[in-house]
Amino acid sequence: MTLRTADEYREGLRDGRRVIYRGQPVADVTEFDEFDAAIAHSAHGYSIADTDPGLAVAFDDEGTPYSAFYRTPRSPQDLIERGKLIETVCRYGVGTIVLKEVGSDALFGLLRATVGEGRENAQRYWQHVIDNDVALAVAQSDVKGDRAKGPSAQADPDLYLHVVAEDEDSITVCGAKVHTSFSANADELIVIPTRALGPGDEAYAVAFAIPVDTPGVSLYVSPYLDAPRNSFEHPISSQHKMLESLTVFDNVRVPKSRVFLNGEVERAGQIALAFVDYHRFTAINYKLPLLDALVGAASLVAEANGISRAAHVRAKMTDLISYTETVRGFAQLAAVRAFEGEGGVWLPDPLSTNLAKYHFAHGFPEAVRTVIDLAGGLVATGPGGDDWADPEVRAVLEKYFAAAVPAEERLRIIHLIGDLFTGSWGGYQTVLATHAEGSLEAEKLQISRSFDAEPARAYVRDLLARATEPAPLSA
Ligand SMILES: Cc1cc2nc3c(=O)[nH]c(=O)nc-3n(C[C@H](O)[C@H](O)[C@H](O)COP(=O)(O)OP(=O)(O)OC[C@H]3O[C@@H](n4cnc5c(N)ncnc54)[C@H](O)[C@@H]3O)c2cc1C
Repeated sequence: MTLRTADEYREGLRDGRRVIYRGQPVADVTEFDEFDAAIAHSAHGYSIADTDPGLAVAFDDEGTPYSAFYRTPRSPQDLIERGKLIETVCRYGVGTIVLKEVGSDALFGLLRATVGEGRENAQRYWQHVIDNDVALAVAQSDVKGDRAKGPSAQADPDLYLHVVAEDEDSITVCGAKVHTSFSANADELIVIPTRALGPGDEAYAVAFAIPVDTPGVSLYVSPYLDAPRNSFEHPISSQHKMLESLTVFDNVRVPKSRVFLNGEVERAGQIALAFVDYHRFTAINYKLPLLDALVGAASLVAEANGISRAAHVRAKMTDLISYTETVRGFAQLAAVRAFEGEGGVWLPDPLSTNLAKYHFAHGFPEAVRTVIDLAGGLVATGPGGDDWADPEVRAVLEKYFAAAVPAEERLRIIHLIGDLFTGSWGGYQTVLATHAEGSLEAEKLQISRSFDAEPARAYVRDLLARATEPAPLSA
């Protein structure tokens, strides 16, 4: 078996995983109403193999099909196609990541940055993922405690995940990771370090993969974006959602065949960064539908309000287009400028990737403000789904909310803007833009690290040398 159906994916989630939601255990995630939207959203990671096989299905040397999310990049073209696949699957949820993107980022990072037995295990694990079409979550972010202190200097040693025991066949780990997307609705967890480590931090230099239902793993799922939503007021967030957890490891035993790093501190930062190289490339591609929605919604609401031709509206549309297409352009450039890394695994150009990610994250609040500006105050004060469903109230709404287009058309676009860019989903997107795949400062750091200033310095040295040569005599 190499490609599972969406139904098989759902069925695979019925295991002994320990999930806690609002203080209560969840016996079966597939039967729990609060998780329906999230599981349906992630199931697109499987159904896309039917709806878009040209992009979503790859073939191995024997011609056996497997999920193209897991195709190891071996050329710029592979990364161009990966970018298209991610953008396409993320159009379902308007720029919200679906399922297999993050896990494959971690797989590629492990294939590139591990050595020796760790690399052999990573290669075998990649084959296992492909053969079984496994849905992966990635637990990288430790809870981190006092940010001014490293792992071994924390008051509580469990504030970073660490090895507490080891025998011939296994290691045992304790600690907690946080913000783990998809953990409650994935099959397995890849666990990798969150930062570079130094001498004394050996126990914290650990990377491995385990099934989510491994004894000792507990998922405390965030209730953010809970409660039923009607599709008139919440056209997107009534159907799409991600689940994140505090992921606690209480004496979790990991077989050594699943361990990719154990104690080599100097490799921890390399693995963390190798994941990030792919993960930010994923980010700049999965955000594109959200940016297209910004541009499209701004244009449609301006038309609905009858302001499309005003000079300030045209200027604002130009700003939104420039913002969106700059991110898209750098995302494409990152693939075009890809280069070969260790193990023959290609990586997207980190400079272009981080420029795109930083430009996206930095500009997002202003772009959101622009679309809210064009939409008007109804984004916050508009009528609800129950009002619209009542014929008497609806007649009033139809009369008073008509503008350059009928009231229904106008209200639906205004609610789409409200749902996507304000309220709890919009707030979630703003936090996501700021922190997910790394904070703004992390991106700036990578921009400065990946830029080679030497050619520019040499050019200026050359200019200075030329200026010291005697000036030619005028005729
Ligand atoms: C919706 C969402 C989904 C996510 N999904 C995943 C996931 O699936 N898996 C995963 O592993 N992670 C995930 N993340 C985590 C994400 O990568 C982190 O949120 C991000 O790296 C920031 O870490 P933090 O939240 O601990 O914030 P912090 O690191 O505490 O950052 C807060 C601020 O402190 C600054 N700061 C932090 N440390 C220092 C320091 N030592 N010195 C000076 N300044 C410092 C930062 O620059 C930032 O300004 C997700 C996050 C979000 C919001």
